[in-house]
Amino acid sequence: MFESFNALVNEPMSEHTTLKLGGPADYLVFPRSAEEIAALFAEAGAYNLPVTVIGHGSNLLVLDGGIRGLVISIGKNMRAVTRDGNIIRAQAGAMLGTVALEAAEAGLSGLEFASGIPGTVGGGVTMNAGAYDGEMAQVVTRVSGVYPGGEAVSLTNEQMRFGYRRSAVSELNFIVTEAEFELKPGDPAAIRARMSELNAKRSASQPLDVPSAGSAFKRPEGYYAAALIDQCGLKGYSIGGARVSMKHAGFLVNTGTSSKDFYDLMQKVRQIVEERVGVTLEPEIRVLGEEKPSAS
Ligand SMILES: Cc1cc2nc3c(=O)[nH]c(=O)nc-3n(C[C@H](O)[C@H](O)[C@H](O)COP(=O)(O)OP(=O)(O)OC[C@H]3O[C@@H](n4cnc5c(N)ncnc54)[C@H](O)[C@@H]3O)c2cc1C
Repeated sequence: MFESFNALVNEPMSEHTTLKLGGPADYLVFPRSAEEIAALFAEAGAYNLPVTVIGHGSNLLVLDGGIRGLVISIGKNMRAVTRDGNIIRAQAGAMLGTVALEAAEAGLSGLEFASGIPGTVGGGVTMNAGAYDGEMAQVVTRVSGVYPGGEAVSLTNEQMRFGYRRSAVSELNFIVTEAEFELKPGDPAAIRARMSELNAKRSASQPLDVPSAGSAFKRPEGYYAAALIDQCGLKGYSIGGARVSMKHAGFLVNTGTSSKDFYDLMQKVRQIVEERVGVTLEPEIRVLGEEKPSAS
């Protein structure tokens, strides 16, 4: 199945997520275009297989049993970036860091905040990724994609209904293939300096040398998840090798563990914070796949 797309079969998802966790995908494909994405959905549909779409896997926990059916990774084969004046168009598989750097080279400001976010344009737009007072919603002017049935879709910024770490992509259930950014002219050296400053802040405060999926929880209104977790004395708390980072309590890290331990740690941290400070933490990490059947 999916032979003409060079599908990887029984492919460990731990190789395709920044957390380095997750059981096998039955099939994993890296399409090159919207047409190929539609053809993949058609072929999966013909065999009644479920389809899961991912980007760089930097916001994902894939469970130990892996993902049944087809996983489509909008990544390495869809990375073209073009520029037309102040407008940058990037295919969904382009890494945010690369697009931010290309913008800086061209003397375009607005994407500095995104340079250290280790995801793709497609994942960034879907999640309305943001940092240091910036978010995708401020710079994205149009998002193009394809519905599973093959119909093209093109949405304006307003139609994308960006909110905190969400957008219309998940509600409408389409696959992002390209995004357009409108940026402002600026001094390339100043843009690069701002990017370096933000990235230095990031590496001083975040555990970038250990596998993670970034902040595990969304910011609850009026609070910071990391501060609440720290306040509960949970820095360093672990289940197996899944651990609350000592450097940043909002990051849960994999120091050699299973997805089950990681998932259990997320639940335990939520439970303790709820009991001790009465605030419910909502996961920012998206959980995919199925648990491993227990050996009995
Ligand atoms: C060290 C570290 C630091 C981080 N810092 C930040 C930060 O500062 N700010 C922030 O917002 N996030 C941060 N993140 C989280 C993550 O990088 C972002 O959420 C990123 O936007 C996810 O992009 P991705 O390509 O990895 O998407 P994935 O994790 O692969 O997918 C995320 C979601 O988007 C969907 N998706 C992905 N691509 C597409 C597509 N083309 N079409 C339709 N749906 C799609 C997936 O189905 C999934 O639901 C961090 C993560 C790490 C590991």
